[in-house]
Amino acid sequence: MKVRFWGVRGSYPVPGPDTNRYGGNTSCVAVRAGDDDDGPFIIIDAGTGIRKLGKEMMQSEFGAGTGQAHLLVSHTHWDHIQGLPFFAPVYQKGNKFFVYARQRDDTHLRAVFASQTDSPYFPVPFENVQADVAFRELVEGARFEIGPVKVSCTRLNHPWIAIAYRLDCDGKSVCYVTDTAPFRDILIEQEYIRQPPKPGDPLSPSDAAKLAAMRDGVVRLCEGADLVIYDTQFTPEEYKVRPHWGHSCPEDAIEIARAAGAKGVVLFHHAPERTDDQIDELLAAHRKTTPDLQLLAAAEGMEITLGPEGKGHEVKTHK
Ligand SMILES: [Zn+2]
Ligand SMILES: [Zn+2]
Repeated sequence: MKVRFWGVRGSYPVPGPDTNRYGGNTSCVAVRAGDDDDGPFIIIDAGTGIRKLGKEMMQSEFGAGTGQAHLLVSHTHWDHIQGLPFFAPVYQKGNKFFVYARQRDDTHLRAVFASQTDSPYFPVPFENVQADVAFRELVEGARFEIGPVKVSCTRLNHPWIAIAYRLDCDGKSVCYVTDTAPFRDILIEQEYIRQPPKPGDPLSPSDAAKLAAMRDGVVRLCEGADLVIYDTQFTPEEYKVRPHWGHSCPEDAIEIARAAGAKGVVLFHHAPERTDDQIDELLAAHRKTTPDLQLLAAAEGMEITLGPEGKGHEVKTHK
């Protein structure tokens, strides 16, 4: 199984000299199952990174209108869907896409996506999409199969709820866990929280129970995983100020990965203001204290081939 990063930022794109090495595009990861890249084409999230992925896809069967891909969406905040209107393969007749995201109570998934390109926000309405796009709404704890790939999900602690995915194929597994706050200080659901709790504020028994169940779900999802891609937008100092924004720190990712017995962790959804040099420093500091896990920081162009049992994953970088 190969995992390639096309967008690694949270919140909004940040091109510029300080973000050149890790990249400034928002979340998008492509997964190719099967040893010979012959498995289903799976894309997770459609942040601005998906634009460049789309250009590359157009050089293959997607350019001829015979491609098929599956898009798993963690949630529909801008940084996870904003690249979709610029994703060339959806304007090519004959291509087929399956889009998966959490079922909402109020709006069908298709309408959520279509409204993104409504006038006056975008010149090309969703009806102009030429590819065949099927929407699959997911209920909590859904499990399904994409060819030989088994997909499972669990909910996360994030405003209006995000979902994490795990993909299993040929004895290899990768988890995608973003966006989420840790599961200890605040329960974030479907309303905007204006005032975060103060450090030490007690949780209600019901919130504490919901958070414990959510954490269990995430640990179970990541159990024994080869690779866990995790939201590490914050440093502990930043988290203290904004626990209600729904993001974690590298410490939280490592703690969950250890509890789950995962083998590798990829720091992901980097804060937009984090410079390349700061990410280098964060990664180096955490590698020192985490010799038990293969620790990486997601960068655009990075491709990870999941390694055999007991060996590290192979990492290469596409320019
Ligand atoms: Zn995000
Ligand atoms: Zn979000």
